[in-house]
Amino acid sequence: MFQKILIANRGEIALRVLRACKELGIQTVVVHSTADSDAMHVRLADESVCIGPPPSRESYLNIHQIVAACEITGADAVHPGYGFLSENAKFADILAAHNITFIGPSGDHIRIMGDKIEAKRTAKRLGIPVVPGSDGAISDDKEAKRVAAEIGYPVIIKASAGGGGRGMKVAHTEADLEVALQTAKSEAGAAFGDDAVYIEKYLEKPRHIEVQVFGDGAGRGVHFGERDCSLQRRHQKVWEEANSPALNTEERSRIGGICAKAIADLGYSGAGTIEFLYENGEFYFIEMNTRLQVEHPVTEAITGIDLVHEQIRVASGAGLSVRQEDIKFNGHAIECRINAEDPRTFTPSPGTITHFHTPGGLGIRVDSGVYSGYKIPPYYDSLIGKLIVHGRNRVECMMRLRRALDEFVVDGIKTTLPLFRDLVGNPDIANGDYDIHWLEKYLAKDE
Ligand code: ADP
Repeated sequence: MFQKILIANRGEIALRVLRACKELGIQTVVVHSTADSDAMHVRLADESVCIGPPPSRESYLNIHQIVAACEITGADAVHPGYGFLSENAKFADILAAHNITFIGPSGDHIRIMGDKIEAKRTAKRLGIPVVPGSDGAISDDKEAKRVAAEIGYPVIIKASAGGGGRGMKVAHTEADLEVALQTAKSEAGAAFGDDAVYIEKYLEKPRHIEVQVFGDGAGRGVHFGERDCSLQRRHQKVWEEANSPALNTEERSRIGGICAKAIADLGYSGAGTIEFLYENGEFYFIEMNTRLQVEHPVTEAITGIDLVHEQIRVASGAGLSVRQEDIKFNGHAIECRINAEDPRTFTPSPGTITHFHTPGGLGIRVDSGVYSGYKIPPYYDSLIGKLIVHGRNRVECMMRLRRALDEFVVDGIKTTLPLFRDLVGNPDIANGDYDIHWLEKYLAKDE
């Protein structure tokens, strides 16, 4: 097992990883920017190293400084959290070259899944169902028209190097296609320095369903069920659930089994998430994330398994603590992402939290790095905490969630709590009846 882990992240996820390390008796080092000297993860870690000024590229994305911090403190492994360097293959390679363990998959696996065309090709080869579309990059209008005619309109043009929902264009007819292709190519070139694009069938009313997988790096793969993250705004997840209200047990074990086998065949190591769009009983692969997800606690709530413990075990060579048959799904869990944002306009609302009170009681978990008197710096994302609620079934979970949202107090800044208080009382949400466009439509109605 590792002696000392360096946590290359900030906010709630830095604290989340720190908790797992403490439970496992592993020493912790955190790195932080000058804007985060007062952060909770800095207070609670065994050691901390200031690695630079507030902008992420000079601190949390600064590979040289992070490697230097490992060497100064003698850390033997790095947990990257999510975001920042968590899906940076070069970072994984550099750590390996310094004999420091990256708690995540190999640089090669990160690279494959970071290129969407390559990822889709790999998924298909591994027997994962994909969205019908072009085999690879589209070179000209003629090819685009041929593929689109084959799969049928509407189609979506996506950037191979895409991420964060950028570089996507929908074409409803052949007349739209030329313009959509040109715009997508130039946007992709400008945003990612790579203008390769591909085409796939545009699904009109899908749900976003993702499968949590783990590989032990030695040919074993398991799945931890799915999460439903259909409630999104601008392709950003807002509310996540496990299990999905849309799947039955048979579908769960079918898609889970396909994913676990794929992970085993790939020789993948660590945590991963295979994301699908789901429509009319069919799953369509869109991408794989090679890291821990923000929404991992809903899976932990229904399985009772600490996924960060598992990540650390696998990276240290101790293997997974569970076999597929040990993983059981109990009850229902929902996560709400509490952001420091105006609940109507979603403009960021940094500033000082004058009072912070979190709900408690049975089935409630709050993952947050903030506290009363904490000043939110304006440089990073606006997530200030996650409320995760568990119940024996979805109805009980919703009752408890409504109560917990009432109890949550954050004074001094605006937060998205009022949005969740509205959502929890909405009949569609109560029935689990929503797709990936539901939230945008709901918010547009309100304007
Ligand atoms: P990114 O990596 O930029 O987030 P994804 O491929 O994960 O891109 O897609 C992001 C979102 O875009 C999906 O959650 C879905 O809302 C929408 N989307 C992607 N592909 C399709 C498709 N074929 N049909 C309909 N919507 C899609």
